[in-house]
Amino acid sequence: MPDINMTIGGGRVSGDGTFAVVDPAAGEVFAWAPDCSDATLERAVSAARTAFAQWRADEQGRREAMRVAAACIESHVRELSTLLTREQGKPVREATGEVLQACEWLCYYADMETPTEVLADSAHARIELSRRPLGPVAAITPWNAPVGLAFWKLAPALRAGNTVVLKPSPYTPLTTLRIGELLADVFPPGVLNVISGRDPLGAKLSAHPAIRKVSFTGSTASGRKVAMAAAEDLKRVTLELGGNDPAIVLEDADVETAAAGIFGSAMTNVGQICVAVKRTYTARRIYDDMLAALAERAKSVRLGSGLDDGVTHGPLNNQAQLDRVKGLVANAVDAGARVVAGGLPAEGRGYFHAPTILTDVTDDMPIVAEEQFGPALPVLPYDDLDDVVARSNASHFGLGSSIWTGDTERGAELAHRIEAGTTWVNCHLYLLPSLPFGGVKWSGLGVENGVWGLHEFTDMHVVHQNLLPGNAWS
Ligand code: NAD
Repeated sequence: MPDINMTIGGGRVSGDGTFAVVDPAAGEVFAWAPDCSDATLERAVSAARTAFAQWRADEQGRREAMRVAAACIESHVRELSTLLTREQGKPVREATGEVLQACEWLCYYADMETPTEVLADSAHARIELSRRPLGPVAAITPWNAPVGLAFWKLAPALRAGNTVVLKPSPYTPLTTLRIGELLADVFPPGVLNVISGRDPLGAKLSAHPAIRKVSFTGSTASGRKVAMAAAEDLKRVTLELGGNDPAIVLEDADVETAAAGIFGSAMTNVGQICVAVKRTYTARRIYDDMLAALAERAKSVRLGSGLDDGVTHGPLNNQAQLDRVKGLVANAVDAGARVVAGGLPAEGRGYFHAPTILTDVTDDMPIVAEEQFGPALPVLPYDDLDDVVARSNASHFGLGSSIWTGDTERGAELAHRIEAGTTWVNCHLYLLPSLPFGGVKWSGLGVENGVWGLHEFTDMHVVHQNLLPGNAWS
């Protein structure tokens, strides 16, 4: 592996030590990433602080730089997607899609118009609302989609005029670091700084007094800590956290279509997606057919290294995640669940676990009640709509959800009863840069994407001109 460095103030910065990065398909260390010390963190934040004044003032320059950044990433898509597959595990086709998502998000926000809103324009007053950038912001990302999720933050943050310190997960730091290197000459020095290190680095970055906002994607447990650290000096936060998305299959659904859609969104990236389907409730009349259709799909996957041709599903990203999924499946089986496909971790090297379909599960089993974040899908029957709505909502989480039906209007009506940030009808995991995405309850705080995602990186500023002679109160 060539040396990959941090990017601070437009320059390459090697670590004050290194930490290992494991190839999950081999279960072996394949590279070393730079470890950011406290002093280097100070340099990164200071660079972001220094760059802020000029960056915020040059809207046209921001838009142009973002378009150049998109073109630069696109021209390196092969290198970046191969590296992403090496460190994350997903098939290279999916990694390519994720890298191209960065370009899509950059272009979407570069093109976005952000006019000043006129709230009143009369003989008495003219009142205008504008949005101001916050300053240096922190972007902290998890290991399941490190590139895509980074640009959900970077694109709106930079477009709004903020400067950024980006910290990827220690499991998947390399592609993000490499993008930092590639963009070092695209943005003015200090506008985009990329640092890497273990979890305590994220905690220090979140608590840093010069950071004015933390945009965090990761687990609910870490998100809570970020919120507490940010509370100290009232930093803004956006938290995109865990999920336990239900998919409800109504009795009028086409079984094959629903099974294809649900299996796809439950097992893409072997289930390591915050907004994957994580439990399904199927009307009893079609339950057996649904179970069989899901099992058939699970048996047809081709598990292997994401770099190999024809592989449809890669390994889990890390040993801890593999152990968690194994543990949840074993616990369910001990409590009476039955495996209809998959079940055991695949033999050999790497963190592989076969896509697994479970029946005879109950709502109180951890595989249903908690976020598994892996390729094990519990399939439950239901008899009554009110009951299935209550069971879907009986969760601390509320990220995504979906309803599968032959009657989309009926599905949309039911969608209004589901506690979640998004309820899809006859699809799941359908994400666009223009659509707001966020969770309710323990799934998060605030939203990303669309104009709403941009607004999260701004403070509102009202300018009120009194046009009456003298004081409005006189
Ligand atoms: P994690 O919380 O362990 O780590 C996420 C990031 O936070 C990493 O960069 C980590 O180093 C950093 N971090 C850890 N402790 C921190 C602290 N105290 N302060 C600041 N930063 C800290 O999460 P993970 O295991 O990498 O990711 C999996 C989780 O992420 C799952 O729960 C998944 O549902 C969630 N996720 C949510 C979304 C979403 O958009 N809602 C998207 C993807 C993943």
